[in-house]
Amino acid sequence: MLNLVLFGPPGAGKGTQADFLIEKFQLIHLSTGDLLRTQIAAETELGLEAKSYMDKGFLVPDSIVIGMIKSKLQENKNATGYIFDGFPRTVAQAKALDELLNENGTPVSGMLCLDVEKEELISRLLGRGKTSGRPDDQDVSIIENRIQVYNEKTMPIKDYYQAQNKCHKIQGMGSVEEIAQRLIATVSAL
Ligand code: ADP
Repeated sequence: MLNLVLFGPPGAGKGTQADFLIEKFQLIHLSTGDLLRTQIAAETELGLEAKSYMDKGFLVPDSIVIGMIKSKLQENKNATGYIFDGFPRTVAQAKALDELLNENGTPVSGMLCLDVEKEELISRLLGRGKTSGRPDDQDVSIIENRIQVYNEKTMPIKDYYQAQNKCHKIQGMGSVEEIAQRLIATVSAL
């Protein structure tokens, strides 16, 4: 079983690259951002609560996202592998994921860390905001907030996975194809 954690700042290209890895390795895509946006579109109570955090660029509480991942893992018990995209985003989430996966005896295989310069992130997110309609992609101060939240709350996860020897740094600048090839080569060698 291949369990991949796709890691990197907002705008690093996680969603784009997840598509290549899913196709190549037959994985189930679990993106907490996508799951939350589905809840927002359906105007559920969970969606309404999540939206108040997301629109400002803050993290949604751990209990909400961990609960969503837990139920998706239960729904897809026969999967041959997962790619976690945008999750975990805090050390508490990383620990919860380890516990959930260890219950099935299928630990995280590797964490793929996309490395992209800050100026490039901001320009990619503003570009995406023109077509995505995402409120959090349309305002530079919200984007800056997301990057700051990433540095403070999410970066410590790197050490968490490094301590398990699972952290793989991938150069995230270049063409989409080039980056996909780097990722595929790294995963093939896991
Ligand atoms: P990006 O990587 O571009 O920020 P995402 O779709 O992954 O896009 O996330 C959008 C927003 O959804 C985040 O800024 C945050 O508010 C919320 N979110 C997504 N995943 C998580 C998570 N694992 N924990 C907390 N909040 C999350």
